[in-house]
Amino acid sequence: MTDFHLDTRAVHTPIPEPEGSRPLGVPIYQTHLFAFDDPEMQPAGFAGEGNAFLYNRYGNPTVRAFEEAVAGLEGGAAGLAAASGMGAINTVLLGLLGSGDHVVAQRSLYGGTLAVLRDLSERRGIEVTYVDGDDPAQVRDAVRPNSKLLWLETISNPTTRVLDLPAILGAGREAGLITVVDSTFATPVLCRPVEHGADVVVHSATKYLGGHSDVLGGIAVFADEDRYRQVRHYATELGATAAPFPAWLALRGLQTLSLRVRQHCDNAQFLAERLENHPAVDVVHYPGLDSHPDREAAVRLLSGRGGGVLSLELAGGRDAGRDFIAALRLATATVSLGDVKTLAMHPASTSHRDLDDAQLREAGIGAGLLRISAGIEHPEDLWSDVEQALKAVR
Ligand SMILES: *Cc1c(COP(=O)(O)O)cnc(C)c1O
Repeated sequence: MTDFHLDTRAVHTPIPEPEGSRPLGVPIYQTHLFAFDDPEMQPAGFAGEGNAFLYNRYGNPTVRAFEEAVAGLEGGAAGLAAASGMGAINTVLLGLLGSGDHVVAQRSLYGGTLAVLRDLSERRGIEVTYVDGDDPAQVRDAVRPNSKLLWLETISNPTTRVLDLPAILGAGREAGLITVVDSTFATPVLCRPVEHGADVVVHSATKYLGGHSDVLGGIAVFADEDRYRQVRHYATELGATAAPFPAWLALRGLQTLSLRVRQHCDNAQFLAERLENHPAVDVVHYPGLDSHPDREAAVRLLSGRGGGVLSLELAGGRDAGRDFIAALRLATATVSLGDVKTLAMHPASTSHRDLDDAQLREAGIGAGLLRISAGIEHPEDLWSDVEQALKAVR
């Protein structure tokens, strides 16, 4: 290179390879293009298979490290990272479904997923039937000859219902459906849906996997290698695949996932128990409480824990919810969940503000319902904050 002019040398910078040592952390391969010494290898790069990297939309080593890590934690054959949870959800739905197909879906899904399903049925000729998900018979009754896919969530939002996942997945598989579980709320620390018969598991890595609200990302894990290939092929067409730096942040988050989830669960349990005995609180929805309708399912499915999210209903309705949020000092009033900081939201005055009380009830959300995503702070500090906010409620 020293023979070349400065202009040329500035472009062709040598890349040092570690000699005899290896990096302890996963390097961020902030390059989107790779070149093969052997041109025969190019087709493998286009296929996005193995470690033959060519172009980031097909695959990148940092992204692959994240995909393999989550696939390993979930007990699946392979993972496919996406630019967001919604990117993963769209990739899976569009990669597996065609017009004329029918989907069976749980009624209380994440709002973004419901919006995509609505779009599929209104504009793309894919019909959807919604079921409550508390009885496998509902799935069997909903199945038609053109049914293709069953979409579920491990823990529902915001009332934290827990499915009898093995039974519902069993009904879906008996009917020949591809079973997909959005397990964002549970994380592989608490539940690994593939072990219960799921074909695909999706996550918003923006939440617990990343864990620090510094990354937007998503991932789908496939139990079966062939289905993975089919969807990966589609993902490169859709172009919603993950970039190296977000994948690296999510990968760093994964290293403390177990520790964080344990603390999230302990704190949520602590708050739920105290809130349940507070006079200003009508109901606490938390699968770690004996009063929760799905307590038994949660014990079996979530390794005896209740997760990091709880919700409560204040006797004072909409105004009480608003007052509570405004009075919080330590917990942050915002959307999302799964952060190391405690986050709280009042759906009736934010995400669901356009609905009146009757429409809210229809959506299973009380006007005074608050959702808390417990962080990893000291539980007594969290309780002091929640207690003083409850005092501020009129
Ligand atoms: C946040 C969330 C999503 C969407 O993820 P993004 O990363 O925001 O696109 C999907 N499913 C669930 C359950 C979520 O909580």
